[in-house]
Amino acid sequence: MHHTFRGGVHPKEHKTRSREVPLTRFYPKGDVVIPVAQHIGKPAKPVVWKGDAVQVGQLIAEADGFVSANVFSSCSGTVKAIEPRRVISGALADCIVIENDGKFTLAPGIGQTQEGGATKRRSPEEILEKVQWAGIVGLGGAGFPTHVKLKPKDPAAIKYVIANGAECEPYLTCNDRLMREHPSEIRDGLCFVLSMFPNAVGCICIEENKPEAIEIMKESLVTDGGSIDNVSVLPLHTKYPQGGEHSLIYAVTGVDYPVSMLPADVGCIVLNVGTLYAICRALVKNEPLYSHVLTVTGDAVKEPKNFIVHDGTSFRELAEACGLDEAALKKALSGGPMMGFAAASLDVPVQKTTNGVTLLTADPVEDAQRQQTACLRCGRCTTVCPQGLLPQLMAEAADHRNFERYEKKLYGLECVSCGSCSYVCPAKRPLTQTFKQVKAEILAQKRAAQAGGAK
Ligand code: SF4
Ligand code: SF4
Repeated sequence: MHHTFRGGVHPKEHKTRSREVPLTRFYPKGDVVIPVAQHIGKPAKPVVWKGDAVQVGQLIAEADGFVSANVFSSCSGTVKAIEPRRVISGALADCIVIENDGKFTLAPGIGQTQEGGATKRRSPEEILEKVQWAGIVGLGGAGFPTHVKLKPKDPAAIKYVIANGAECEPYLTCNDRLMREHPSEIRDGLCFVLSMFPNAVGCICIEENKPEAIEIMKESLVTDGGSIDNVSVLPLHTKYPQGGEHSLIYAVTGVDYPVSMLPADVGCIVLNVGTLYAICRALVKNEPLYSHVLTVTGDAVKEPKNFIVHDGTSFRELAEACGLDEAALKKALSGGPMMGFAAASLDVPVQKTTNGVTLLTADPVEDAQRQQTACLRCGRCTTVCPQGLLPQLMAEAADHRNFERYEKKLYGLECVSCGSCSYVCPAKRPLTQTFKQVKAEILAQKRAAQAGGAK
């Protein structure tokens, strides 16, 4: 077995300030603002009206088709508005705004232990139906509806279900805490998923910088009923972007595959440990996804913390609970500094996929812009690219708007926006940012061409 991938970087970890802070549930005090599109696919359709009373775990927006996800209330109170609100990107998006009564009254049946608990066998259909009902999406950041992932063309061809506990992103520690504090739920979620795939084994992947989580997850595999022998814990080298789906599959299987293929095409299903926890909660406690783990961190807060946070909570409430020094704040990120993105303001809501709020006293993008020079042709970006790409040449093609060369000769669409090339570039070129923009433009052109052809 391989335990890492080619390329990658070693950014400063910045995890020590929060890694020993236990998870606590954060109950928002203010209104919660819940976007109806928090996932890849069609936005959900609201099923409540202004003035309706709602409770925690109540369906408030229904999935619109198979590639979509249900959305649930994360507080009890009254629907105040259904209207466009600013979300993390700064764009306006349809949201259900709930006036929070502060009581967090659960909707009937929510949170109730189901008959047989985690030990009762469920059929693949039952598992799929529950995961779909619960509105579970990939909590590693992408937000792909999980029930879609769990329905590959050929279930018998799945060889590995990989639990992603790498958490390679600097600053973030909430998944480390989740593994240390809730190992049995993660294990049970993984066992439920494994029961859907007759030829698969489970592999819990954790970077070596989380020795406690590695040990605790190993111990969780020894139960009263005997040890679970179709699941193993695989410690991985600490290297960014180890937690990327592609890097992880390579580390586990040694298989390289183009981004245009799905993990299921190479016999793998990758699920974040938070997603597995959510699957267990849905099946065992009848709990839909309305809360998840998140780290609030960075040098602009006095006390970084790991929370179980309710969807729709404002970044501001979380930041203030951690002792934000707003005068010193220069940059707010949703996620960490490598894969995260700038939050338009602190008055935006947490979504299902928000795994971190990183608050910094310096803006790394502004700093890089000030220091930017011409390319030095040093080749460092090529050495670190986990996709084996040529970022220097991709950037040249992008500058010349030669999209044909970018896509066909340089395979630029294989870029996974990991940020490693920008991180090492001594000329401080905004490589990743450029590649994200070019990819978006090329994909938009393709969609327009398809739409034109369909007329
Ligand atoms: S080209 Fe893309 S995949 Fe390669 S290092 Fe840069 S951001 Fe990562
Ligand atoms: S790392 Fe930066 S300076 Fe070096 S070749 Fe790549 S783009 Fe040029």
